[in-house]
Amino acid sequence: MTSATLPLGGAATEERKLFPLRKRTGTAAFHLSKEAVDFGAEDLEKLSEKQAVLLLADTVWGSTKEMSCPHCGTFDAHYFYSRELRWKCKCCDKKFSVTSKTVFADHKLSLVKILKIAYSWANGAAGKPALQLRRDWKVGYPTVFTLVHKLREGLLRGFNVGVLCGVQEMDGMDINGRRYREKRNKPQGGGGAPKPRIPPHLLKPQVDPETGEIHGPPKPPKYDKTSKQPEDRRILLVMRQRGVAKGKGAVATRIAVAKTESAKTVTEMARRYASAESVFCSDEDTSYAAFARLFAGHKSVAHSRSYSGPDGANNNQAESFNWRMRRAAEGIYLNPSNKYLKDYAAEQAWREDTRRLSTGKKLKHLFRVVLSVGLSAFWRGYSHGKHREEELLIEGNSPAKGRGRPKGWRPKPPR
Ligand SMILES: [Zn+2]
Repeated sequence: MTSATLPLGGAATEERKLFPLRKRTGTAAFHLSKEAVDFGAEDLEKLSEKQAVLLLADTVWGSTKEMSCPHCGTFDAHYFYSRELRWKCKCCDKKFSVTSKTVFADHKLSLVKILKIAYSWANGAAGKPALQLRRDWKVGYPTVFTLVHKLREGLLRGFNVGVLCGVQEMDGMDINGRRYREKRNKPQGGGGAPKPRIPPHLLKPQVDPETGEIHGPPKPPKYDKTSKQPEDRRILLVMRQRGVAKGKGAVATRIAVAKTESAKTVTEMARRYASAESVFCSDEDTSYAAFARLFAGHKSVAHSRSYSGPDGANNNQAESFNWRMRRAAEGIYLNPSNKYLKDYAAEQAWREDTRRLSTGKKLKHLFRVVLSVGLSAFWRGYSHGKHREEELLIEGNSPAKGRGRPKGWRPKPPR
């Protein structure tokens, strides 16, 4: 509706001209629509444990009557023991529940509570802190921490997989590490650290009082990838497939963590997650130079000049993911460790891809994915000290160039 058709008086029309109604487009319109919320905390409140089991069975197996036995794989209408909320296999006689051989095997919380916590977690735009979930649902911090990490593991192993084909946008963002904070002019080491100086390159040019010469601002510090980087800095590589529908954004996301954004790491990622028929869009980074040869096409956009090129060359969907991840890293995770960085990124990739699902569909999608990956490989036995040791990095990393004093440095002994 334009301002001309609005039945308003003179003054109001003037005001409307100054502040025109903004047309809601894209995901914002969806979020405010009726369809976006088809399920709420109230609906979960009404669920009995049996209903929760049947809801999950229907979500995971697509049926509450027929399913395949997690022990022997026999697909049949197995016997349901409604008091135990378990099934008994018609072939191997073993009993199983809806969470047998899944990341939630041997769960101690009731399924209703797991659903409630997961629902609350899934509804955050950029996530929800485990500490807040602990307060909201009155559970121990280790319990809720492992629970949400099991959800992330399910997304990492069940969602961040598979080869994409189409127009892919690719980008790398730097995350963690000291230099990343420096770039944002934040003091190091929290509140006790001194306030940052105004960087010299932001100062006004000075006139020399004696000679009258103007001394321009010094060159800004070089923060590109050729300068030395701290060792804990990581690059989060993201690849997003553009949807065919116009104006609906990307439809699928893949992520990987690397130490450097180099030709080796980006090629490794692109080859792993995209078919050779794909067309790539990226920024002007030289790492992507070989993409025109390796894939069906490659367009690049010069970010120093514009956000989008004339032929639709842009990687704005990839930047959209970067923004969501940045929001989460600074507002939810606060200090994501490098060890679990990929898990966190997989969570954000899932949030991006399910942004247009209603609350109920999102919860079902989450459990369908998470309960499909088998037993937890990372979190089983966590409370007994069995922790994942390794960081999940993509191949092709050369070690980050260290900063500061070389290894083994000792001060000179006094003479
Ligand atoms: Zn069986």
